[in-house]
This record gives sequence, C-alpha cells and structure tokens, in this order.
Amino acid sequence: MLTIENAVAGKRYVSSGRRVPVFNPATGEQSAELPLSTISELNEAVASAKKAQVAWGNTPPMKRARIMFRFKALLDQHADDLAREISREHGKVHDDALGEVARGIDCVDFACGIPQLLKGEFSRNVGPSIDTYSDRQPLGVVAGITPFNFPAMVPMWMYPAAIACGNAFILKPSERDPSASMLAWNLFMEAGLPEGILNIVHGDKEMVDGILDHPDIKAVSFVGSTPIAEYVYQRGTAAGKRVQALGGAKNHMVILPDADLDQAADALMGAGYGSAGERCMAISVAVPVGKETGDALIAKLKPRVESLKIGPATDKDAEMGPVVTKQHRDKILGYIDSGVEQGAELVVDGRGFSLQGYEGGYYVGGTLFDNVTPDMTIYKEEIFGPVLSVVRANDYNEAVKLINEHEYGNGTAIFTRDGDAAREFADKIEVGMVGVNVPIPVPVAYHSFGGWKRSLFGDHSIYGPEGVHFYTRLKTVTTRWPAGIKGGAEFSFPSNK
Ligand code: NAD
Repeated sequence: MLTIENAVAGKRYVSSGRRVPVFNPATGEQSAELPLSTISELNEAVASAKKAQVAWGNTPPMKRARIMFRFKALLDQHADDLAREISREHGKVHDDALGEVARGIDCVDFACGIPQLLKGEFSRNVGPSIDTYSDRQPLGVVAGITPFNFPAMVPMWMYPAAIACGNAFILKPSERDPSASMLAWNLFMEAGLPEGILNIVHGDKEMVDGILDHPDIKAVSFVGSTPIAEYVYQRGTAAGKRVQALGGAKNHMVILPDADLDQAADALMGAGYGSAGERCMAISVAVPVGKETGDALIAKLKPRVESLKIGPATDKDAEMGPVVTKQHRDKILGYIDSGVEQGAELVVDGRGFSLQGYEGGYYVGGTLFDNVTPDMTIYKEEIFGPVLSVVRANDYNEAVKLINEHEYGNGTAIFTRDGDAAREFADKIEVGMVGVNVPIPVPVAYHSFGGWKRSLFGDHSIYGPEGVHFYTRLKTVTTRWPAGIKGGAEFSFPSNK
C-alpha cells in the first residue's frame, strides 16, 4: 500500500509520526497510509525554509519567474495525472478534477507575472534633493493549511504567489487527500525550485497548532470550515502572525420571475450538485421570487435531480461522484433527516442511493427540499453535500433580506433579465462574490477571492493582487545625498513649508 511521504528540505521521506488511513471514496477501500508529521519534522522544515529563503528572497524576480514558467509547463503536461490523484482520494469526477487543475494552473500563470506587481513607486524631489521609493519585500517563511475539497487548486491559491514574491512556504494539505500536492511538489522541484522553498508536512490539529505557534512562520493562509478558520485566525494573530482564514458558506441563488427558468434550473444543477455539493461556492439555497416562479422551478428541478448520473470518477458519464468520507456521508444523511423532522418538503430523497458494484462507496443521491424556512438547521448550517434547499420569497426585498441576514457571505447569484434589479442586487448584497446569471462566480486568478461576514477572517482576500499584498510588506525609503544636505541640525518636523 502507498505510504505518503513528507517533503522537507528538498527530500521526500516517510515520517515517524502516527499513521492514519486515506480512503478511495468511490469504493470505500483504503488507498494509502498517511504518517502524520511530527513537530520536530515541522521544526526541521521551518529551519530549512528559513535558511533557503534568504537566497531566494534575493534572487531577481525574473529568475524566480522563470522557474514558475517551467512549473506551469510541467503542470500542463501532467494535468491528467494530477486529476487522477485528486479523483482517487477526493472522489470528484475526472472532468471536474481537470477543471480544478486548470484553475490552479491559472494561479501559477499569474505568479509568472508577479515581478510586475513587485515593482515599487518612485517620487523624485519629495523635498529639496530628497527622493522616495517604496517596494514590496517578502515576509520570510509563510504557511498554508488547506481543505479536502480542492486538493490541488486551493494550495495553488497560496504557494505559487508566496514563492514568486520571494518567500519560502510550508504546506499542510488536508489529511484526507494529500497526494495531489505531493505530485505538484515533484513537478516544482523538477522545474528547478531550490531545496527548502516548498515543504510539505502532514497532520491534523496538532500540526496546525504547531504551525500557528511557530515563531519563525510569519503568515498563515487557511481555507476550511468556519469554526476552524476562526480558531486559526485568533490563535495565529495572537501569536503575532498575519493571517487570512477563509471559512464556510451558504450560497443563495435568487431567481426573479423574469428569469429564463431552464437556464436557472440548469445552473442550479451544476452549482448545487457538481462535485457532490462539496464546493465552498456551491449553491445550496435557491430563492425563487413569487409562487409561480417557485412552482415552475420545482417542476423543472425535480426530473433533473432524479436523473442525475452518479458514479465513480472512472465512469465517463458520471456527473457527480461520492462524498469524501463515510463520516461526511453520515453527517449529510443526518441533515436530510433533520430537514424532514423540521417540516421541509422532501421532493427528491437521496438517502437510499446505492451503486451496483460500488456498495462500499460513500454515495449520497441528489436531494431536493422545497418550502425550507430560515429557522431550519438545513438552512442555517453548511451541509457540504448534494442537497439543494428551496426557500421561497414573496418579493425581491424578502430575498435580499434573507441573504443579508445569513451568517455566511461567500458567494451569491441572481438570475434575471432585469438590468436594474441585477445592478441593485450586486451593489447592495452583503456577500463578497456576486454572479449575475453566473451561478459560481469564482474570480479568475488575476482578481482576488474572498467572502464577507463569517466566510473570511482577516483583511486580505486570497490570490491575485490581494495575494501579493498578503505575502509581502511595504518598505518606503527616503534618500538625500550629501550635496543636498545643508549644514546645521534641524529640530522642527520636516515639511515643505
Ligand atoms: P476543515 O475545516 O475540516 O479542515 C481544513 C483544514 O483544517 C485541514 O487541513 C484540517 O487538517 C485542519 N483542521 C481540521 N480540524 C482542525 C482542528 N480542530 N484544529 C485545527 N485544524 C484543523 O475543512 P474541510 O472539511 O477540509 O473542508 C471543507 C470546508 O472548507 C467547508 O466548510 C468549505 O466551505 C470550506 N472551504 C472554504 C473555501 C473558501 O474559499 N471560503 C474554499 C474551500 C473550502
């Protein structure tokens, strides 16, 4: 059986830590064994990163970018292999995994051009013979802690930008699907990345705490569920670190009466059930406005949900795979039970789904609820499964109020032909990423990604220009040369008066 290694100081080796199993969600069989790295292995990784970063931070940005270009070319070449690693441990279907890889590669593409964003500003003659320049310098050693649901892309939201900015990086991938990051590490090393600049350690809470408390780690990027994001933010900032912690979501899609309902229903299928609902930008709540819109939407969704093609990633026709673990499947089934108990109308029930030949896999059938109300647990909490709730609104204002009052504010969408309504929605809604007739408005790599409210703790969104700001600090230098200096001490505050 495969034993997953650490990647520290340019070497891969089997950790001496306690071991946990990694499963193939399509079959329920164990696919690998993951030794969780020890704190002394983390210390070794940070020490090697700290040493290597000095030269890397002084390497001309163009030279760093050249390695990034080679990394991107290798990722393109191995996109299929990466997608297979993702599917084996995560369960998502192959095309979906390829899409994830492509969006990760976009972030590497962006990192190739980072020298342009590291350029500072220069002002001549800010005072008599005095010039000022500013530039952005790397932080040193920084770390990333990532979730299971995008095992290649989310780490690539972090380390390509951090490394292109001149930092060294410690990555702790999800312990449920760490292999995609290991393959990407091999490719980065093949591209010529110096030893110690990207290190991978594995682990759970113990390793996360080790990272948060380590005095030589200057910044932490976290993506995961809200309770852990909040914890990471509090503990990391208390230790004096810069922290960006992206959390969970409950994304609503409003459907106005003038929307094309076939388009809206198709959009809800992809955004609600793609990747078995295990996306932080998945739409988990549909909000049709008006009774007629609600009835017509349910009539269009029901047959679509009933005919969802569910299967392992190896089935080319499958639209959706299993969920990640048995525990997660049981949690989702518990949510469906609670929806029924609390009075929601179960239109399509995915609880009994089983796939012939894959009875051990962690499958949940597509599930659709109607008449969900804001007091129900299935509305308040993130389910992270193939469960779509329809919450009916009487009018537009009720729909907006619903979204603004929800504790999460990651993504949202509106489907309409009315430009005024769409503009008003985009302007007023208290959510960080908004789609107009676009169900999953994940910004491209040269914008930045981040939710509002309890979907993001910290001041920086992730990747794109905000990523460059997060992984660098501004230095401003003011210069005057002896020819411009008049004799005598000056005691008043310098000004141009
Ligand atoms: P998770 O919070 O369980 O785990 C995320 C990371 O935290 C993992 O590396 C894990 O090892 C670590 N961790 C888990 N428990 C911990 C603890 N008690 N103390 C310290 N660290 C701990 O999240 P997950 O189940 O892997 O991923 C799904 C969640 O991630 C969902 O809530 C989803 O919305 C969220 N997510 C958010 C975004 C975003 O951009 N906002 C993107 C992807 C996923």
